[in-house]
Amino acid sequence: MCVTPGRELFRWLEFEGQRAFRADQIMGWIYRKWTLDPLEMQNLPECLRIRLSDSFSCGTVKMLDSQSAPDGTAKLLLGLHDGQTIESVIIPHGSRTTFCLSSQVGCPVGCRFCASGTGGLVRNLHAGEIVEQLLACCRHYGARPDNLVFMGVGEPLMNLDNLLVALEAICDKARFDFAQRRITISTSGWTAGIRRLAECRRQFNLAVSLHGSDDSVRKKLIPNCRRPLHEILDACDHYRSQTGRMVTFEYTLIDGVNSRPEQATELADIAKRSRAKVNLIPLNAVPSLPFGPPQRDVIKKFMSVLEARGVQVSIRIGKGSSVAAACGQLRSSAGTY
Ligand code: SAH
Ligand code: SF4
Repeated sequence: MCVTPGRELFRWLEFEGQRAFRADQIMGWIYRKWTLDPLEMQNLPECLRIRLSDSFSCGTVKMLDSQSAPDGTAKLLLGLHDGQTIESVIIPHGSRTTFCLSSQVGCPVGCRFCASGTGGLVRNLHAGEIVEQLLACCRHYGARPDNLVFMGVGEPLMNLDNLLVALEAICDKARFDFAQRRITISTSGWTAGIRRLAECRRQFNLAVSLHGSDDSVRKKLIPNCRRPLHEILDACDHYRSQTGRMVTFEYTLIDGVNSRPEQATELADIAKRSRAKVNLIPLNAVPSLPFGPPQRDVIKKFMSVLEARGVQVSIRIGKGSSVAAACGQLRSSAGTY
């Protein structure tokens, strides 16, 4: 896979008897012009273009479908070399744009309200596929994003080896050159991954999907790979102490499950103890799943309880719901190709 080239490209060029500046030219095509086909790299000699094309498999992530919502949100369905699919979402907000990327094909956690969890895990994305996904979004959008969030299909911290290699390419000055602080990694609370990420001492934002203020609510929503709440909170403290970064708790609000005022009070206590922000996400209903979002006034009340207790809280408005922009929805309607 060619799209995470770093030292290996330099070595390959040296072996081929090519001059070192060719590496910069190739990096420029890939990471700044989002061009993955060596045959299109016009400032390279033809023989090198052909050698590159024969030696590396580039451009294996193909755009299969895209849907745009009136608010500008675009959802891309991307095909992989083995016929599997992933999805990415491009979310403009004001003058800024966020790309929401996938980390796995399917997801092993299987949250009851999430379209990504319904078919289980198919496989991890390779590092190159994660980077190619980002470049495919840039090509479609015609610009780089301001923020990157790993909130698409999959549990990123269960594919941490590949994710870290991809992030190295994404943040490397000589490659995609993207700021660590503009990247958010979202996890369902996989504590081994949170601790490993903490040890990397990078400046990534960590978002932890709690969805419940106690283990019994979490058990109803998160069937697999679920860790106890106290263990998750300890891991978050560790992340904050190692990186100096404030953690965000994501909380998908679901009618009749986790949206009562007393649950907001418990969540506020947890967030304050962890010095965490809270991001409320009213459920984007998945047609085949038996959950819905609470009424507006219930959501407002929940938010005001948190605010009254001094918690920094934001709410994610259902952007792009007309294009099935909740995690995994486009993929689940498309299957494999
Ligand atoms: N697996 C990781 C990252 C991907 S999911 C995680 O769970 O954090 C990213 C976020 O989208 C999670 O907070 C998840 O709860 C939320 N989400 C998934 N399906 C949703 C839906 N139908 N409506 C609203 N939020 C959803
Ligand atoms: Fe997986 Fe996250 Fe969806 Fe849960 S919410 S099934 S962890 S992608």
